Amino acid sequence: MKTRHSLNVPSGSVYPTYASGETQLVTEDRLHLAKWQAKQLFRDGSGTAQRTFHNHAVRKYRCKASQITFDDTGALKRIAEATVCYDDDDILGRTDGHAIEIACVDMTHAEIVGTLIHEAMHDWCKVKGKSMSCVGEHYCMGKCGDPNES
Ligand SMILES: [Zn+2]
Repeated sequence: MKTRHSLNVPSGSVYPTYASGETQLVTEDRLHLAKWQAKQLFRDGSGTAQRTFHNHAVRKYRCKASQITFDDTGALKRIAEATVCYDDDDILGRTDGHAIEIACVDMTHAEIVGTLIHEAMHDWCKVKGKSMSCVGEHYCMGKCGDPNES
């Protein structure tokens, strides 16, 4: 059944498209609903996304495969515990690697879901125990289908 919370996820993409749907201010209720779909997409797409990040990390940092690690449990926990923030209208979301905040701005349902996945992919892949650069992470997110990074 198609509902207003149906998402269009292109084949091979971890992210939904942002093309349509009405925008509304983000609320705790809307965020709560988006978390379920974001967790599902993240889980389903983790294998694909890991390959993308892995390939980039090996080339960029010339490291061994065994030095690249992924923390799915932590990323899913950060999605589950994301909160709405009200002090910055210039961003869609932000993370410090521990907590995710989604801005109280006009977004479609798909954008909230995608922003949660975006923030969860920051600090998710570690090379020799450290996060990749933001630029590198954004590049990989774009490869994973992030509409704001491709
Ligand atoms: Zn980012």
